[in-house]
Amino acid sequence: QVLNDFLDLKGNIRVFCRIRPVALGENFGNFKPIVAMDSSYVLLRLSDNKSRCYSFDKIFLPGSSQVFSEVKPVIKSALDGYNACIFAYGQTGTGKTFTMEGSPDLPGVVPRAIEALFREAVDCNHAFLFTFSMLEIYMGNLKDLLITQPRKAMDPMPPCLSIKTDPKGGIEIDNLVAFQVSDFNQALRLYRLGCQSRSTASTNCNTSSSRSHCLIRLSITSFDAPERQRETNKVWFIDLGGSERVLKTKAWGRRLEEGKAINLSLSALGNVINALQRKKFHVPYRNSKLTQVLKDSLGESSKTLMLVHVSPREEDLCETICSLNFATRAK
Ligand code: ADP
Ligand code: MG
Repeated sequence: QVLNDFLDLKGNIRVFCRIRPVALGENFGNFKPIVAMDSSYVLLRLSDNKSRCYSFDKIFLPGSSQVFSEVKPVIKSALDGYNACIFAYGQTGTGKTFTMEGSPDLPGVVPRAIEALFREAVDCNHAFLFTFSMLEIYMGNLKDLLITQPRKAMDPMPPCLSIKTDPKGGIEIDNLVAFQVSDFNQALRLYRLGCQSRSTASTNCNTSSSRSHCLIRLSITSFDAPERQRETNKVWFIDLGGSERVLKTKAWGRRLEEGKAINLSLSALGNVINALQRKKFHVPYRNSKLTQVLKDSLGESSKTLMLVHVSPREEDLCETICSLNFATRAK
């Protein structure tokens, strides 16, 4: 039933909001910006006598443990041949990585979705071949997270990745490694490796992982009979770079440039989603590497989930407004 409801939705894009709980020992301030919420709306207090209401397909309250229930139908459609994109959006520190990776006792969307993919695949009446890839987009450059990065400055860099379009409009990333995976544990090992190389690369090159987008791609090829390939589709899991506006963060130099790159690509993503939701004739995919990479996976025959994360803190109010506005535009 959930799946049927989902297929009927306009533009196949659903937008959810997740509110981070207050952390232990976190100084909250007297002014509580989020004054009321339930599973479909958030009431945001802007000042003592002004508030604004936002509503979404679903709101995950601070107490909710994980969000996988809403992702499951997308995984089912992926096995039916649909492309899918699952995004985590929000300011740094609002729980994007917590949603996607999770913690040891609360696995996030990525491990649970991969597990579900392999489990559901067993029940289908055709065979599948899965490949796993993981990359990062940093300042407009694509970097493979499954190829070990050089340890010393003198070591050769792994090849740079470029985006290619095939005659049918399909997107391929040149040189991106795609490992064939035949069970959950193989995929999980690669995923952990990629997460690790994301964080070590960020300390080595002095870039913060919040200043890059992290993309995980599972390609699914289905077979009717041995040797008879039906189609290949892709599922993307995307932990987006922090959405905080760079001019407000007093960043300068490289940080400023990183922030600008993230802000630009997030607004390009917002524009693409907005155009798709309104079924516009022209969809501006070309404005960022992120939207170019996802061009064939966003749109008509794709399922998209946008999980927008917000903070409960007073000092984050401006960013919370921006994120909720982004989410509203994507609806
Ligand atoms: P982001 O990736 O958006 O920068 P993180 O996922 O790193 O944010 O979250 C920041 C901190 O808040 C982490 O310590 C994380 O464990 C914690 N956190 C975020 N969301 C939740 C949640 N829903 N429940 C419990 N802890 C959370
Ligand atoms: Mg993160």
